[in-house]
Amino acid sequence: MKGRFFATILAVVAVLFAVTGISSAQSKPNVVILATGGTIAGSADSASATTGYKAGALGIDVLLNAVPQVKEYANVSGEQICSIDSKDMTDEIWLKLANRINELFARGDVDGIVITHGTDTLEETAYFLNLTVHSDKPVVLVGAMRPATAISADGPMNLLNAVRVAASPNSVGKGVLVALNDEINAAREVTKTNTITVSTFKSPELGFLGYVNEGTPEFYRTSTRRHTSDSEFSVTGRTSLPYVKVIYGTANDDELFVDAAIKAGVKGIIYAGTGNGSVHMNAEKALAKATAKGIVVVRSSRVGNGTVIPAEQSYINYHFLDGDSLSPQKARILLQLALTKTNDLAQIQRMFKQY
Ligand code: ASP
Repeated sequence: MKGRFFATILAVVAVLFAVTGISSAQSKPNVVILATGGTIAGSADSASATTGYKAGALGIDVLLNAVPQVKEYANVSGEQICSIDSKDMTDEIWLKLANRINELFARGDVDGIVITHGTDTLEETAYFLNLTVHSDKPVVLVGAMRPATAISADGPMNLLNAVRVAASPNSVGKGVLVALNDEINAAREVTKTNTITVSTFKSPELGFLGYVNEGTPEFYRTSTRRHTSDSEFSVTGRTSLPYVKVIYGTANDDELFVDAAIKAGVKGIIYAGTGNGSVHMNAEKALAKATAKGIVVVRSSRVGNGTVIPAEQSYINYHFLDGDSLSPQKARILLQLALTKTNDLAQIQRMFKQY
């Protein structure tokens, strides 16, 4: 009798353990880490080296093993998408990433995604995903300025914080986020501002969204332009994107690069002009030839802050569009996606006002 009583108690305790064990795993969000390479996965010969290393040398398992603390915040699994230095990023990898993220969210059991990425083109991938991922769930890009093998590497804390941001209900509906150096930025506004230092990612003038304060993501503002679940762009089933080039305006500019772009068959040109997207008279003549051939030309600016707004009457006559406040590299992405939908200039101009 006594034996059966204890057996029953033991069985009840065992069930309780099993149930609480399962429920604690279930109560944690499921976060998938998609690894693409970069300095965060970089390996150098010496611990004091911060240059001359191989970006993307270490796999996602090595990165995760270095930060076991991520498991306190989420059930984490990793997938290697590619292992590249992000200076070599391609449209094909972007399409693979966007499609994989949409697939994972469609499964229903993934609550957030972290993408480990090189810092050189991190802001471009973030903006591309901001326009092509169709979910309110958090997508967070993270990188590092020092290789994983360096003294005081910034990658491990950045990765832990990125998982915290991806696992946080506060991050839902904020669009694709970039989290490094304890700060959270919006994909549309963030840019790399320093070639070397760890505090390189900023959203100049418009400001970052929030901090990771001692492990807790806290937001103070949001980016108001359309993104993610409110985006009209879809890359499902696409294997390539329209060919769009950026041409950088300078004093003494000429027709050379515009003519070369026309000859190469581009579908769009972003002219990174001086000041308010001002176009050198020599380049203007060449760009007028481009629009006459049906190539879409968008004036952007090399200044780094501010909005490109209508200026010269000749720009209107030649049907040049205004790039709003997007950097030239992000204007290129929006024009690529716009051209997957339409060649109508009024529609494309609307998109530059909305995204
Ligand atoms: N060249 C590297 C990359 O973008 C730089 C970095 O990750 O910091 O992959």
